[in-house]
Amino acid sequence: MNGRNVILEPGVNTAEYSGKQSLFMTQLHIPAGINYECSGCGNCCLEWPVPLTPQDVSRITSLAAEDTLQSGAVLFRSLRRSDVKLQSFTNTLEKRNDGRCEFLCADSRCLLHSAWGAEAKPEMCQLFPYTFTETPSGIYASLSFASSGALYNFGRALTDQAEVLEERWGLFKCLFPLVQLDWSSAQLIDGQLLSWTAYLNLEEQILSCITQSGAASRVDLKLDDARRFIAQALPAGVDLDCRPKIEASQTAVDQLLLRELFDFYLPDNVFAEPKSDLNVKALLEQFVAPPCKVQINSGGRAYSFKQLLDYRLGSLDAEAEDLLFRFVYCRIFSKLYFGAGFANLSLLAGFNHLIVLVSLVRLKVKMMAQSQQLNTLGFFAVAEIVRALDRQLSQAALSKQSVAVLEVLLSSPERIERIFALAA
Ligand code: SF4
Repeated sequence: MNGRNVILEPGVNTAEYSGKQSLFMTQLHIPAGINYECSGCGNCCLEWPVPLTPQDVSRITSLAAEDTLQSGAVLFRSLRRSDVKLQSFTNTLEKRNDGRCEFLCADSRCLLHSAWGAEAKPEMCQLFPYTFTETPSGIYASLSFASSGALYNFGRALTDQAEVLEERWGLFKCLFPLVQLDWSSAQLIDGQLLSWTAYLNLEEQILSCITQSGAASRVDLKLDDARRFIAQALPAGVDLDCRPKIEASQTAVDQLLLRELFDFYLPDNVFAEPKSDLNVKALLEQFVAPPCKVQINSGGRAYSFKQLLDYRLGSLDAEAEDLLFRFVYCRIFSKLYFGAGFANLSLLAGFNHLIVLVSLVRLKVKMMAQSQQLNTLGFFAVAEIVRALDRQLSQAALSKQSVAVLEVLLSSPERIERIFALAA
């Protein structure tokens, strides 16, 4: 599965790009087999706090003044910029009481777009759902799976949209001029640096393992298989299953960790104010004084881990497995799972975290299928789980303490084996 590489002409569509320039960094890498076109569902215009630049505010203010529908409506809210990444933005778009954007019409179309063209929309709406990760070997394009077009693999292949992607990359750099990902401290495991060349070699093996045809269709099994490449690169004699002296059994630690991650990444109310960090303080307290029983709550029901273990899910339907595959492939292709791409986790912990994310989706499918007395769930139900997960991933800003806990707990091969078994 080969992507497409495009050499960005210096100055073309990146005129305002003031970051580090090098021959490597002018390559735009585009993932293969990934399609996107707006499906017009209006889903991305619900509840999201759309950030606005001062130019957005002045353009939309004058356009809205031309439109009697918007007269008198409060359109903007001031943005408190605690995040340095958001320094280009001053406001957010106000929502209606039902959470819909003020400009979302009854036919799920954007009023700004339909009346004045795509460039009338806030720049963040123009950028969505394209994502870009800057690395020492170039810029890796991908998509947010909060978008229905991305979830359904709808529309034109990204490899046929090179010009659009180049233009969106320029927009990304204008909107996020301070985003400079530092890959120089990427680690293989905690405390062991990983050179970019060594990483790319490992990534090639991982991607070839998960994309090979004729292999098992289950994405969790492909990921399990790909783990061996990271294991082979580890220093000899390293013991990743060393056990901290705590009261909770290893199984109880698995359960407490999974419950915390499940509540964080797949909350029942996907439109509730998203949490940005794990509650590691409570988690660590439970390791010292474990509860007698751990259950996961979902959809108003409590599920025991024995119930989840006993329920064998097997393969999801082909379209749902393909969706999970695209989600995993895009995360790996665009490096959004370790190092500067996700929480500064080491490659080992970041890859295992990705495995846990897929396991959480499968556990949620088990719970929903059980509650609906089905064998499995259809594609659209799985798609909504992945949408919620990707949305929460984009809001996550894990503290150093959370990362340290994940680093220790997710480096254990035995723990990952047990989580695989639970989600099987
Ligand atoms: S401005 Fe348009 S595209 Fe952006 S959130 Fe509102 S309706 Fe959606």
